[in-house]
Amino acid sequence: MKQIRMHGRGGQGVVTGGEILSNAFLIEGKYLAVMPSYGVERRGSDVTAYGRLSDTPVREKSMTYEPDYLIIFDPSQLSKQSTYEGFVQGGVIVACGTDVDEILSMGVKPSKIVLVDGIKIAFEVTGSNLTNMIMCGAFAKSGAVSLDATLQAMDENLPKSFIKTSIAGARRGYDEAVVYEYDVEEVHIKHSPQWNRRILACKAPEKPPYEAPWGNCENHYIVLPTGTWKVTRPVVDTENCIKCGICAGFCPVQCIRPDENGYYLADLDYCKGCGVCAHECPKKVISMKLESEFKE
Ligand code: SF4
Ligand code: SF4
Repeated sequence: MKQIRMHGRGGQGVVTGGEILSNAFLIEGKYLAVMPSYGVERRGSDVTAYGRLSDTPVREKSMTYEPDYLIIFDPSQLSKQSTYEGFVQGGVIVACGTDVDEILSMGVKPSKIVLVDGIKIAFEVTGSNLTNMIMCGAFAKSGAVSLDATLQAMDENLPKSFIKTSIAGARRGYDEAVVYEYDVEEVHIKHSPQWNRRILACKAPEKPPYEAPWGNCENHYIVLPTGTWKVTRPVVDTENCIKCGICAGFCPVQCIRPDENGYYLADLDYCKGCGVCAHECPKKVISMKLESEFKE
């Protein structure tokens, strides 16, 4: 699994860019799960999105702390130390800018930098600083995904009125991106943010030291006892459950697993009672019951 982190500013389409890449990977038979994180919701403020790229479906939904790929949508993010936090030595940086030395001066050791003057192209193509499709094109130049799949994802997923401009921007992003390669070995250094240690201390003590019972991630991931949040819990009518597992796929904390009889049941230490599983169940056999009904 490779981890991706995207940095940009509100209004530059960082989230849409992530979704397009996600669909491009899907076209190529891979999976990229993208999660956005906003600060204050206004144009110009910092926006970060996180992604995980894998040959198999991705279940983790936490932030990415050790990105193998950084995609930087705005030149103002290039000189911020936080942009590069946890970046894997030997990873790939795809950046909107003109000065490769500005990136190297931040102490990172990438194996590849793909640099494109996205702001200039964006103004020429769209008349604004909307760099997302240009950066998608530049990302394709890194070799992680093909330009054809990226353009197809745009064609299939963007509103009709944006497709032509977006494809033109992506093509220019790809054509005009400059690739710098470095002879650097890939090295992951475990990154454990201070605030994360505090959260780890709240985990249910009897649970294993990872995000939840299904996870394959390691112990620097966030662990929250989200089971304490719920006021309702899912109850499955097993007589009519068809064991399709759709509820498990949709659970936002991924706390549903099959039991020994193949019925999909929630781990109540992590279930936060959101009711998404009940909403998505095709047979409508999950009822959300008030927690008070289960109190002695
Ligand atoms: S989605 Fe509904 S029918 Fe399918 S496994 Fe879950 S509870 Fe059963
Ligand atoms: S209510 Fe259902 S979807 Fe929501 S957290 Fe619990 S098991 Fe997951």
